[in-house]
Amino acid sequence: MTLKQIQEDILKLKKQNDVILLAHYYQPIEIQEVADHLGDSLGLSRLAKEANTEYIIFAGVDFMAETASILNQDKRVLLPSSEACCPMAAFLDENMVKEFRLDNPGLPVVTYVNSTAAVKAESDICCTSSNAVQIVEKISKEFNTNAVLFGPDANLGDYAEEKSHIKCIKCPPQGHCYVHTLLTVEDVKKIRQEHSNAKFLVHPECEREVRHLADFVGSTAQMYNKVKKSPSEETQFIIGTELGLLERMAQDFPNKKFYLAKDKMICYNMKKNTIELTKYVLEHLDDPTFEVKVPSEIAKRALNPIEKMLRFSKI
Ligand code: SF4
Repeated sequence: MTLKQIQEDILKLKKQNDVILLAHYYQPIEIQEVADHLGDSLGLSRLAKEANTEYIIFAGVDFMAETASILNQDKRVLLPSSEACCPMAAFLDENMVKEFRLDNPGLPVVTYVNSTAAVKAESDICCTSSNAVQIVEKISKEFNTNAVLFGPDANLGDYAEEKSHIKCIKCPPQGHCYVHTLLTVEDVKKIRQEHSNAKFLVHPECEREVRHLADFVGSTAQMYNKVKKSPSEETQFIIGTELGLLERMAQDFPNKKFYLAKDKMICYNMKKNTIELTKYVLEHLDDPTFEVKVPSEIAKRALNPIEKMLRFSKI
């Protein structure tokens, strides 16, 4: 069966069933091409909340499907590959959050959505890479503090601290994304020399020294919009995030040229979802193997910090 046939089958199956297919920008491009909606964690969380279908297929990693389940306890949330997990989320567990809170009484806990449902349940508010700065500013104001506890990504915490001037105490200090921390200052200097007219866009999960070399720092959706709104004379971009976003932009903006900041910037966890698996899930919507269901007791407690984030980032 060719790729085109599989994609056509997926489009047909979606029409025949009460289902929505959400895909993250880091998904394989052939899945992005058949998704109902594409986005970053924040955009997809909003879409998951508004979904009015019986089934939500979440082409992303486990914490994204868990967030969709927390927001939609009455719906069936399906993840094509049970192996699609985020290693960053594994840096932090709920007991670490409890201990961290005891050691730092009175400080609010901000957790990146790239965390488990149990960690979210112990948090005051969640954030994404789109709104981390805004969330840190608002929650510290609400708690009347000049510091917050931030986990699990120490680089995003560092970025939020730099921009907000509110201390972000990292939990754990070594939490990181293996894809974004691959990119070094030397890599950036080299690729900028090779493409001296290109703008360099980078994700806040990259290290501080790398971020400081960028023309723009933002989440995947923010990078996408930056390119979309760029003047016609800006035609070249170096992309400092996962390959999938570059592939999306190359299709959507054929008059612009894109270079991946480092060719190894591929999230193998995101790529565990394949087009074949996506089709299989659509053919077996009631197969419990694919369902991600957060237990209701955890979901109830994890809902507040997610909803609070959605409220705060609307303002
Ligand atoms: S790109 Fe990094 S943060 Fe995103 S899912 Fe992969 S490992 Fe996790």
